Amino acid sequence: MTERLYYQDAYIKEFNACVTGCGKDRNQDRYRITLDRSAFYPEGGGQSGDRGVLVLHDKASENAFAAAQIRVLDTQEEGDDIYLICADAVPVGTSVRGILDWEYRFDRMQNHSGEHIVSGLIHERYGYHNVGFHMSQDRMTIDLDGEIPEDGLAEIEKRANEIVWANLPVMTAVYSREEAEGIAYRSKKELEGEIRVVTIPGADVCACCGTHVAHTGEIGVIKILSHERFKGGVRMELACGRWAYEFLAQVFCQNHEVSVHLSSRMMETGNAAKRLVEEHSRLKGDLIGMRYQMIERTAEELEGAGNVVIFAPGMDAVMAQKLTAKVMETCGGNAFAFAGSEEEGYKYAAGRKDGDLKNVIKEMNRALDGRGGGKPFFLQGSVQATRSRIEAYFLEADPSISIHELRM
Ligand SMILES: [Zn+2]
Repeated sequence: MTERLYYQDAYIKEFNACVTGCGKDRNQDRYRITLDRSAFYPEGGGQSGDRGVLVLHDKASENAFAAAQIRVLDTQEEGDDIYLICADAVPVGTSVRGILDWEYRFDRMQNHSGEHIVSGLIHERYGYHNVGFHMSQDRMTIDLDGEIPEDGLAEIEKRANEIVWANLPVMTAVYSREEAEGIAYRSKKELEGEIRVVTIPGADVCACCGTHVAHTGEIGVIKILSHERFKGGVRMELACGRWAYEFLAQVFCQNHEVSVHLSSRMMETGNAAKRLVEEHSRLKGDLIGMRYQMIERTAEELEGAGNVVIFAPGMDAVMAQKLTAKVMETCGGNAFAFAGSEEEGYKYAAGRKDGDLKNVIKEMNRALDGRGGGKPFFLQGSVQATRSRIEAYFLEADPSISIHELRM
């Protein structure tokens, strides 16, 4: 049985202990090491297991720890034992000094404590339960068994931060089952034996075995990053403390860049971006309208021209098809349109009113490394050839053909 030092004091960053067991882990490159006491917190309740190092005691010089140290990659729990997943083996009986990766642990204490406040406030306001909790490298998700309106979330976030700034104590007490019966606390599962209850006045009373900050002020800030419907309730993404700060700092940098590009104040980038998108849509609409007009005019100009090839740089494949469809109605011959450029390659459309261009296109695809298909009177595809090669091919295949360009 491992003595759990983190329950005596969640702020223990270094401690002395003795190795009581060492064996190969399931992952054969790693070792499972048990100690008589541990400040390393094992994975549980959605909080990941601690990391850090074990510094080995040098027997040659009493009371000193040698420079030799091994990495603690993860901490797990099995029954009453805590075992450290380590990169190397350590002989049983060795005295060690455990040193936690404190930034890693404190991030989780900030976020775990922040989660208590948010879940507690939601439980009080809506009666919903936290039915799923997960922490990743820089944010956490909580799943609730009911839906919360958008303005409700903003209200919860505001209240949660007020509780942070009030710097309230986070209190922990252990009760027997009988004692706990009179206490109204949140709980994620049916509990057995002693019950550890965490209380944040005005925010939460919850049975929990995790590690928490001593005062809510240490959480710093709580930010709800996103929310979505999930299994009849809501999945919410949260960041607290350093994670929230780093997220907001990145958002600030992005917004600063946007404000420079749009020449707008940082608090007005949303409206400036909206105006830009509206302007873009309007211009795009104008451009499409102008292209249709040009297509109409080209069809009029090429009336009776016979077989024609039209290059339309700047147009896409769809516009090339529309161009061909119009021109084939008036030219009285085969109409070919090529959209694209030397860099992007050329897409083509080919048509002849009431005609059959299958063999013509088959021959062209063979000569110009092309591919495509369609109906006998209207086909489309692409070729792997330069414009000069395309022009040379058509002039040789059909000396009567005329080549045109439609430039926007
Ligand atoms: Zn907790």
